[in-house]
Amino acid sequence: MEWITFEFGIYAWLMYQFAFQPYQRPFKQPLQTSHGKWEVREGIILSLTDNLGKTHQGEIAPISWFGSETVNQALNYCRQLPPEITTETIYTIPDSLPACQFGFESALALNNQNSHHLTYSGLLSAGKAALQQWGKLWEQGYRTFKWKIGVYPIVEELEIFAAFTQIPKPVKLRLDANGGLTYDEANLWLQKSDSSKLVEFIEQPLGLEQFEQMQTLSNLYNTAIALDESVATFNQLQACYQRGWRGIFVIKPSIVGYPSRLRQFCQTYPIDAVFSSAFETEIGRNSALNLAVELANPHRAVGFGIDNFLSPNTPGI
Ligand code: MG
Repeated sequence: MEWITFEFGIYAWLMYQFAFQPYQRPFKQPLQTSHGKWEVREGIILSLTDNLGKTHQGEIAPISWFGSETVNQALNYCRQLPPEITTETIYTIPDSLPACQFGFESALALNNQNSHHLTYSGLLSAGKAALQQWGKLWEQGYRTFKWKIGVYPIVEELEIFAAFTQIPKPVKLRLDANGGLTYDEANLWLQKSDSSKLVEFIEQPLGLEQFEQMQTLSNLYNTAIALDESVATFNQLQACYQRGWRGIFVIKPSIVGYPSRLRQFCQTYPIDAVFSSAFETEIGRNSALNLAVELANPHRAVGFGIDNFLSPNTPGI
């Protein structure tokens, strides 16, 4: 496969008044992953006003520990821009600022897809709290749940998992290790997952540098493996595809870069894509869900069931 280059086509240089507003939103309960605790979501809402006076909003929602720029890098980028910018500015944001690429381009997108038919995966807390949470989400209609693993000792987590296998309802479980397992632990989780028939996939069992081991694991077990941190930005996504990854790709649109480039890639290579939240406000979430309708595998739930952790409302913005 050739390394593909994406072209944005010829755009007239439209001019926009540019403004931006940083925000901080505390989680209802901290999100605990193998990377640590996340307590406050910080991001930026940007506004582009065209010459007819219409304002288009976009959201920059970086997750630096996932591979995007930091919030400060995004803020510095916004601060050095003039009050009037053109589409040329938007299409020359460097690849080192993928959340900015998404925020600016998605502000100008139409968001005209109907997302009502999407099914959602509900995010559960790490540890045994998950066993108290799934029932309420089930009542709300969730049938797929994502549970963080690699947070507590594996013996404890396997006991909790055993309790999940006793749930008298048809549920699907996604196990998200955030790269926090050893190779042996990943094998154990995959064995347990295979025999449970409960697990849709294990997400990012190993770290980014262990791509070959994840390839090996995906050939050894029936349970699918999804890459997430490994494919956080567009260049990483493309590189993993080139290296032969044909398992699941978890895509967080808000940090992957330009939507147009992602669209072109997904339309060229029919990857098995699960779209997932980066804990955006409604502004980024709508843009991300619009892309999910277009590009995600329609047979898989989207990873946007995060209301337990952060309200999608955007008070004060
Ligand atoms: Mg993940």
